[in-house]
Formats: sequence, structure tokens, C-alpha cells
Amino acid sequence: MPEPVDPTPDESAQAQNLASQPSAAVDAESMVTAAQAAAPEAEPTGPKRVAVVIAHPDDAEFDCAGTVARWTAEGHEVVYVLLTSGDKGSSDPAMTPERLAATRETEQRDACAILGVHDVVFLRHPDGTLVPDLALRRDLVRVIRRLKPDVVICQDPTVRWVDQSYLNHPDHRAAGEATLDAVYPAARDRMTFPELLADGLEPHKVREVYLAGAKEPDVWIDITAHLETKLAALRAHVSQIGDWDFAPEIRDWARETAAKHEGAGDYAESFKYFKLD
Ligand SMILES: [Zn+2]
Repeated sequence: MPEPVDPTPDESAQAQNLASQPSAAVDAESMVTAAQAAAPEAEPTGPKRVAVVIAHPDDAEFDCAGTVARWTAEGHEVVYVLLTSGDKGSSDPAMTPERLAATRETEQRDACAILGVHDVVFLRHPDGTLVPDLALRRDLVRVIRRLKPDVVICQDPTVRWVDQSYLNHPDHRAAGEATLDAVYPAARDRMTFPELLADGLEPHKVREVYLAGAKEPDVWIDITAHLETKLAALRAHVSQIGDWDFAPEIRDWARETAAKHEGAGDYAESFKYFKLD
């Protein structure tokens, strides 16, 4: 069965958020401008390095593939980090976790190729059992210090449920929690996980974080020109999609998201955004 599309977060919370976030940017470029205005020190210019840290193959395609496609088209370099290879995502009695993981890694690489993402890291934790413990945090600090991303996209760990129809997957919450804890302060602090220093992995400071599927989004990215690429990337997840004609649902979702913020185009993805000092 395909994983459910994360439903649109509560509208009243969003309305409140819009009112209290007048500087919320609707696209990456105006976001950079807003961030520069807020921070007097010089911001590095040029293409950014982005790490998408995510629990399962296909999560990122549902949540943020339009944004990824847009950013790679704009020249930014995007790397995916998969915490699990989705080895529980099948109800076929003849399927094995090993075969499924291999299939889903191939599907994820295919989706990434469509999105212009050429580097995919698989950490291969078992699907369905992720916990945001120190071991997972250390794994993620290791990856962050190696990849040195300027920007991290991860899942919103605060989404426990949505409406009366959706319980968020515990792996999604664990992935978001562990990633945020790795970004701040562990990846930045020299004396945390000294064994990584011994491996030559120097501290690294991530400058921006986007929470995908966020409960309280405050940034909208216009993906109108990249919606078809997002749909194509989703189609690469053959084992999960099956016969499901997801395109109308994804279009509706992106249209409804865009309608929540003026200037977000015809189709958008939304995020909770952090600019770290
Ligand atoms: Zn998932």
C-alpha cells in the first residue's frame, strides 16, 4: 500500500501563523533576501548545498520534491540521506525485507535522478523501529559533518496526528527529532562525539533548516514549474504506488497549499523555516 499523503495542516493554525509571520518568504530567492536583511554579517553567496534527511524512500517525494526539483534547476546541490530503506513497506507475503530494501533503494535513486539529485546516502536502519537516541544522533552528526550542508530539509517531529484521519508514522517523528538534535548543537560542537573528530570529521554549522510536512508552516515555495517533475519522481516508487493514480490528489494538495499564501503561485509546498545564527 502507498503511504498516505501527509494531509494539509490545520487551517486555523496556518491563518494565525500567516498573521504573525509577515516576513514569510514564498520562494527561495526572496527568502535569502529576507535572511540577509535580518543578519548583518555577510551571507555566503552562490549555490547552496542541501541535505534532505528523511525516514523512508518516497517520503521526500510526497513532502518536498517540487522544492528539490526547483533548487537543483537553480543550481543548488542536493543530497538525500535515507535513514531506512523502507524494508517494511509491503503486505506481500512472498516479499522479504532484504529484497524490498534493495527495490526501494533503486526506486529512490531513480526518483533522485529525475529530480537532479546525484548523491543518495542510505544509513539502512531497520524500517519501523527508528528512535531518536544518541546512536542515531551520532550517525547523523557523522553524515552532516561529512556532507557539510548549508541547508537541511527534514521531517517535522511535532506532527503526532492530523485531523481525525492521520496518525503520523513514528519513524517520521524520530527522523525529524534526531536530525534537529544532530544539526543543533551536536554537529556544531567540537567536544560532542569526540570519536568523530578522531575520524577527521570537523564540526559543521548548518545555517538553514526547513521542516517538511510542517504543522505550522511559515514559508511557501512556488513549485508550479516543477510539479510535473515531482509527479514523475513519485512514479519512480513503483512498489509503493502500484495502480494508484495519485496525480490528481497531489495536484489538489499543492494547489490548496499555494492558496494559503499570497504569491505562492498555482502550486506550492510549505515548510517551517529556521535561520540559525
Ligand atoms: Zn514514510
